Amino acid sequence: MPQSLLQLTTQLAEQYLEGVNNRFVGPLPAQADLIKSIGADLPAKGESPEHIIKHLARAADPGIVANAGPRYFGFVIGATLPAARAADWLVSTWDQCAGFVSLSPAAAAIEQIVQPWTLDLLDLPRDCTVGYVTGCQQANSMSLAAARQAVLKRVGWNVAERGLIGAPRIRLITTAETHGTINRAFAMLGLGADTAIRIPCDVQGRMIASALEEELNRSDAPTIVCAQAGNVDTGSFDPFEPIVKACRAHNNCWLHVDGAFGLWARACPEKAHLAKGVEGADSWATDAHKWLNTPYDCGIVIVRDLPSLLVATSYKGEYLVKSETDLDPSCVTPESSRRARAIPLYAAFKELGRDGVADLVSRTCALARRAADRLQQGGANILNDVVLNQVLIHFDPPAGTTESDHINAIVRSVQEEGTCWLGATTWQNRRAMRLSVSAWPTTEHDIDISVDSILRCAQADH
Ligand SMILES: *Cc1c(COP(=O)(O)O)cnc(C)c1O
Repeated sequence: MPQSLLQLTTQLAEQYLEGVNNRFVGPLPAQADLIKSIGADLPAKGESPEHIIKHLARAADPGIVANAGPRYFGFVIGATLPAARAADWLVSTWDQCAGFVSLSPAAAAIEQIVQPWTLDLLDLPRDCTVGYVTGCQQANSMSLAAARQAVLKRVGWNVAERGLIGAPRIRLITTAETHGTINRAFAMLGLGADTAIRIPCDVQGRMIASALEEELNRSDAPTIVCAQAGNVDTGSFDPFEPIVKACRAHNNCWLHVDGAFGLWARACPEKAHLAKGVEGADSWATDAHKWLNTPYDCGIVIVRDLPSLLVATSYKGEYLVKSETDLDPSCVTPESSRRARAIPLYAAFKELGRDGVADLVSRTCALARRAADRLQQGGANILNDVVLNQVLIHFDPPAGTTESDHINAIVRSVQEEGTCWLGATTWQNRRAMRLSVSAWPTTEHDIDISVDSILRCAQADH
């Protein structure tokens, strides 16, 4: 029997996964070369599906980053759990428009099923509303859109209807350590990223709560505070208990928490204390495609005050068949048509179970600790308290070399050696390397050979 197109695709995917553990994690070909080999000309006549798929698998391969494997430590990037990957294939096959109950009862039902699971695992108030969006960027944006709606409503201004021009001014408060996506959300929402008041942080990047309290006391203007669960460099958490207390003492303050990966500490008994008190916030943003290891894309927005979110996303259209009884997914997210991204999430939750989620968090944190200890034994400086899955690595430069040149050179040679991949950052005026352990397949052996590679590259630059 001839092989079907999907069998061929399965075979190519299996081949990729079989090789991913030993694949060069490192450098990428130049974009121009990739575009050339993939082919930039729109064909006049259509090609056979088999040809397209075979060509794609071959030509794109050199530009595929091996983050589905165990030794990609850059940014905060998970791999994909097998059941989540397979469920994602079904999502493509079913081709459901997940924005409306009427367009896909199954996709909407699965979303309804995973909403309480999400709240349960993150241990957030069970009556919150949960929306599934593209990523934490969009989750931050939606949370802040709801926040903007709520704090202005309290001073008699419906921003969804009237817009921001002429509206009372909103005071934005965050820290210099806030993630770039929060600043971008401020910009996109017309709030102005540069208007934000930046509360100082301690050496781990945690907001100093007493300074927030002082700032809050200065004015009773409508206020939005953004705090963070899991600093992208250090993995540290803002002190939520005093932050929540200070925000609650104010008469018109919305507290949002960006917890793209760090919020998952809540799902792990030995790490949950790091985010103690976070349940007192008004909104939370997180990702499933990072630490939970679902495929891209899956971000999660969680909001306590459903009416503010509904007005912020208010969506009217005569021909849209909205559900009478259930909330349509498109009513709590900014998109209309969209992918059924809760389906791979459902599969990931089921594959791991409650214990498996806790174990994934615990295990990757222990691997980060192992990397830090071994690097330190090998002569590296570790700049952060390794409380979570993030490690900040630094090496003293040899005489005559600047710190920045030294770190950049090590990062480059680690990337070129290809055992693992990590990137650089600047942490409180010091150049450093970031290592994030977020993928389920990573083992102690992967950590050990990666540490060896990093130490080798550091030696070579002396
Ligand atoms: C990754 C990250 C984001 C952005 O998430 P996306 O999924 O890339 O949109 C926001 N905040 C923090 C702390 C992050 O680590």
